[in-house]
Amino acid sequence: MERLERVVGAVVGSAVGDALGAPFEFGEEGAFSARFPAAGAGGEMCGGGGWEPGEATDDTQMAVLVGESLRERGGLDLPDVFERFQRWARGEPKDIGLQTEDVLTSGDPWDQAAARHFQVNIRAAGNGALMRAAPSAVRFAGAGRTATMDAGRRLAALTHGDRAAWEGTAIFHELVRLALSGADPLAALPEVLGHVHPGHRERYATVLAPTWHPDEATEFNGAVWPWLGSAVWALRTTGGFEAALRAAIDLGGDTDTVAAVTGGLAGARYGAGAIPARWTEPLHVPLPGWDGRVLRAEDLRRLAEELGGHAG
Ligand SMILES: [Mg+2]
Repeated sequence: MERLERVVGAVVGSAVGDALGAPFEFGEEGAFSARFPAAGAGGEMCGGGGWEPGEATDDTQMAVLVGESLRERGGLDLPDVFERFQRWARGEPKDIGLQTEDVLTSGDPWDQAAARHFQVNIRAAGNGALMRAAPSAVRFAGAGRTATMDAGRRLAALTHGDRAAWEGTAIFHELVRLALSGADPLAALPEVLGHVHPGHRERYATVLAPTWHPDEATEFNGAVWPWLGSAVWALRTTGGFEAALRAAIDLGGDTDTVAAVTGGLAGARYGAGAIPARWTEPLHVPLPGWDGRVLRAEDLRRLAEELGGHAG
């Protein structure tokens, strides 16, 4: 399979997961397959809970903002990404993470806002940075392990002061890099954990272990560890893009985010061709704050190609 096929798969796959999971957010375990018992039957991009069929949420909206900044600035321009996030937050998105909103609207400078939030609110290890990492993961994959993990950390730190969120995003970046190269990211997990900050390694080792099940999660709802663990679990226990997303959304809870993370990993592993056309056709990404702009799957494909065609 061509590398570019995997690059597009990561970005479009993440957006598809987000839109597919959104109507099931905070729903019961098994709600997705109860409604759609047969895989491949169609109608799964159903909308609901305030979302149109195929409408992507804040996960993908923020991912697009990151991707467009990387493309237009020619690399990592953290103040620019932060400004784009702020402009988006002012555009009153339908959904925005509580912590993300606090940080973006605090009035503090880009390089202090998340840290100050963390000083006051001890709980800052949400999954809100992990969920938006597909475009940056494909952009920095060509630069190697150290560079992509570092970029993941820096982008996460814009809104999340807790290093746990940085490390989770760094792991996601590295798993995508491995998948894009054609390697099996799951087989490489023990080695990847060796590059996680020592103070956070054990906790990630727990949720990324082959025997771990999402039911074992002990953290607060929306925490970064179990959501990365759940996405990896969905990838490990299934054999294709559609099955991985079904498993992820069936977990219930924060379904758009777990499906966005799963979709990014599964898309990188199985390629864009594995994403059902009936899911990409209705996909659309409104961008609040950007004069009514709405991106379609084709726009995401182009963004992914431009980011992932970059050597370093
Ligand atoms: Mg969301």
